[in-house]
Amino acid sequence: MSKRDYYDVLGVSRDASQAEIKKAYRKLAIKYHPDKNPDNKDAEEKFKEAAEAYEVLSNPEKRSRYDQFGHAGVGGAAGGGFSGGGMSMEDIFNHFGDIFGGHFGFGSGSFGGNPFGGSTRRRHVNRGSNLRVRVKLTLSEMAHGVEKKIKLKKYVPCPACNGTGAEKGSQPVTCPTCHGTGQVTRVTNTFLGQMQTSSTCPQCGGEGQIITHKCPVCQGHGIVKSEEVVTINIPAGVNDGMQLSMSGKGNAAAHGGIPGDLIVLIEEIPHPDLKRDGNNLLYDLYVSFPDAALGTSVDVPTVDGKARIKLSAGTQGGKVLRLKGKGLPDVNGYGRGDLLVNVNIWTPRSLTHEEKRILEKLRDSSNFKPSPTSKDKSYFDRMREFFS
Ligand SMILES: [Zn+2]
Ligand SMILES: [Zn+2]
Repeated sequence: MSKRDYYDVLGVSRDASQAEIKKAYRKLAIKYHPDKNPDNKDAEEKFKEAAEAYEVLSNPEKRSRYDQFGHAGVGGAAGGGFSGGGMSMEDIFNHFGDIFGGHFGFGSGSFGGNPFGGSTRRRHVNRGSNLRVRVKLTLSEMAHGVEKKIKLKKYVPCPACNGTGAEKGSQPVTCPTCHGTGQVTRVTNTFLGQMQTSSTCPQCGGEGQIITHKCPVCQGHGIVKSEEVVTINIPAGVNDGMQLSMSGKGNAAAHGGIPGDLIVLIEEIPHPDLKRDGNNLLYDLYVSFPDAALGTSVDVPTVDGKARIKLSAGTQGGKVLRLKGKGLPDVNGYGRGDLLVNVNIWTPRSLTHEEKRILEKLRDSSNFKPSPTSKDKSYFDRMREFFS
């Protein structure tokens, strides 16, 4: 299942301002709103898609990651247990409820019915905070993808009260002020007609329930600090600085709410010999002058060990050999990079008398006079090509 470009989803240009993005999202959110499109799966999908696009593009940090890495940069990597955004309707109203507000009369709590199709009014749902963790990877792990088990200190539901916050034997009771709805409502007249406006119940903070006997282990919060081992499946082709988000793997929320996300920051452990340039790998090879003149076979390091390459007789310093497909895979599945081997001729730094004698003899030999042709591209030619 491939995702649509977020800019296309909102119908804005790539350099759209925050105001334009917000405006575009509001238009779509109202058009595809579940209250206007009851039992319309297609509208619901469109509504969710727009919310996901807005969530990323309205956040400058996420937007810049998306611009650089595409969906993978914002947790859209294929497989591996990462959420591709996948917001629920509940998430959307929690995040962006305010965008429907104001003079549109669509205050998130002001619908005549429950926007999720149930029989009760939407209540306030707690959200756990996001957790961030750094994962250091070798080039080989980045090339193949890897499963990492990581021990995390995080909030988990309190085991003594199962996350309810109520002491064992007692139950949270329905809030007498709002009768469990989490909202107190009043009816007002607006230019669109009679509107119900709601506000969060002051007694229960919108949860609809109150705890009369607090659990002594978590002091009624429903969550406790604990250690958990989380398995992170890192897809092949990730890059240094990339962030992956695992939906729901962050801190648990108070009183059985929605857990936060786990944000995984990828860090590259430098390879002793190979440098990375996008999906290509770069290697500086040094060969002796006799090897370059006579030709030879040498081993060059790759992410999977070694590859043997042949240097033909008369190889010039500065020649770049391209080993197709020996680079890193693209995180979005668009093929593989190459391994570029830059040939350097090693000049000895000290010589014995005998070596000196031989070289002095060779110095005057006509084959040893430099005579570059147009085929011998200079360093500057190659740099010009590279940057044009
Ligand atoms: Zn507890
Ligand atoms: Zn209440």
